[in-house]
Formats: sequence, C-alpha cells, structure tokens
Amino acid sequence: MFASDMRVVRRRGDRASRRVLPAIVFALAITGGTVAQATRAAPLEDSHALQRQREPTRRDAVAFELRRRDAAQRGTLVPDDDPVLRRLRRIDAELIAAAPRTAHQSLDWRWELNLFRDRTTPPLCLLGGKLMLARSLPRALRATDDELAALLAHAMAHALLGHEGSMPGRTRYAPGLRSRYTVGEERAADRTAIELAARAGYDPRAAIALKHRLESLAQPAARAWSAMHRDYAGRADVILAAVRTALPLFARARGVLPGRLPPYVSNFGERVD
Ligand SMILES: [Zn+2]
Repeated sequence: MFASDMRVVRRRGDRASRRVLPAIVFALAITGGTVAQATRAAPLEDSHALQRQREPTRRDAVAFELRRRDAAQRGTLVPDDDPVLRRLRRIDAELIAAAPRTAHQSLDWRWELNLFRDRTTPPLCLLGGKLMLARSLPRALRATDDELAALLAHAMAHALLGHEGSMPGRTRYAPGLRSRYTVGEERAADRTAIELAARAGYDPRAAIALKHRLESLAQPAARAWSAMHRDYAGRADVILAAVRTALPLFARARGVLPGRLPPYVSNFGERVD
C-alpha cells in the first residue's frame, strides 16, 4: 500500500483532554547577556537556508548544563543505565547520524540526551543538539520506536531549523505560556522531522499516530508539548504530504521497495496504510 491511497484508521484512544495546561516549569530562564537573533524559519525545500541558521553558542551549552546540573542536585536526573534513557539514546543516535543530510551544520553539534524524573518537561532540543524530556512521557505514550523517533525528530527539527523556541534565555521559556513556535515554524518542523526520521530508518507514518496519541493524552508533559507545538489549519494534510514524500526514503533505509512496505500499526492498533 503506498502513499496515494494512504488512510488512517483510528481504533482506540482517549478523548482529548480539556484541562488547563499546567505551568511549564523550566529552569532555563537564563538572565543577562544577549542571545543572537535567529533567522526566521527556513522552508524545508531550501536546504541552503538551513546552513545559514544561527550557530550554537557557548551560552546554549551553558543553559543545558545548568538545567542538567540542577536536576542532578535535586536527584531528578535519570542515570545513564536507565532502560528508558538507553532506548531513547539508541533511537536518537540513528537520528543524529541522519541529521547532517537534512542540515549540514549539525555535523559540528555536540548532541546529548537527558531524561528528568518529572511529569512536566516536554521534549525540547536546544540549538547545538541538547535534548531533554520528562521520563514519564515515553512511558505514558506507550509508543513504538518509530513514534519515539517521530517525537525526538520533531524537537530536533526545531533546533536544526534555528527556531527561537529552541534557544535558551528567550522570554518564551517563561512558565505558563501556552505556545512558543509560530505556525510557520511548526509547518517547517513537521516536514523536516518526518524527513529526518525516514532517513534514519524510522517509519514516517508513525508521525500521524504520534500526533493522535499526544492529542489524546492528559499527561502533563504531553499537554505542555501540545501547547508549545500548536496546531494549524491544514496540518494533517501537511503531515500526510510529508509522509508521502518521505516513504521512499524510509523504504530505501530499510532496503525494501516502497510498494512492499507493510502498514504501520501503533501499539494501540491504529493503522496507517
Ligand atoms: Zn513543533
């Protein structure tokens, strides 16, 4: 079954929560100094524009280190031998290996992924490749590896595209703000993330199942994620089109003909042909 007759069968899922978003608590509001302005979101098609994005600075690394050190002092930094962390780092390593084909400048990034023992930290990738999220989110999602790849790839895409929300010290890190990325940034990140995951050998159709799952999950980090990554008109169509484009990349990465790809099936029985 190929993209032209792609369809989504939703079999199960929680109702979308209407709860008010809990405050997004980040210890990243670094004060003082100046953060270089980013160029605006680059369209996916303009790969050269990706290479003109702001380079990560020492400040980016310091912000992440402060957040990591704070967690370590509080005892909320998940240790390296944790099975959830190891699983995410294995998936992340594949995405990192594929990232330079999407954004050449990422060759110089010093990637790192950490988990925190809390319920509120949504996945976030800072410029320069520093990823963080709440350990409770992957568990609550009960996601496949493909869906976790879609989640990490989306956070990475915002950073690779140089979006302001991926920079430390911006006012949009303030607790309680419901959205940070613009619609244009979301659209670009959706496309870039799907391409990145496919190049890394993860099924791009998982992005569709992940979107549905995140929308239906009341877990605080999932609600924080949904508030930060706002929906926009026609988003489902944008994602479907990006998946169609990315399926041959995925098939190539898996060494199979695109027409022979089996349907994607989530752990909840959601099927994407
Ligand atoms: Zn986003």
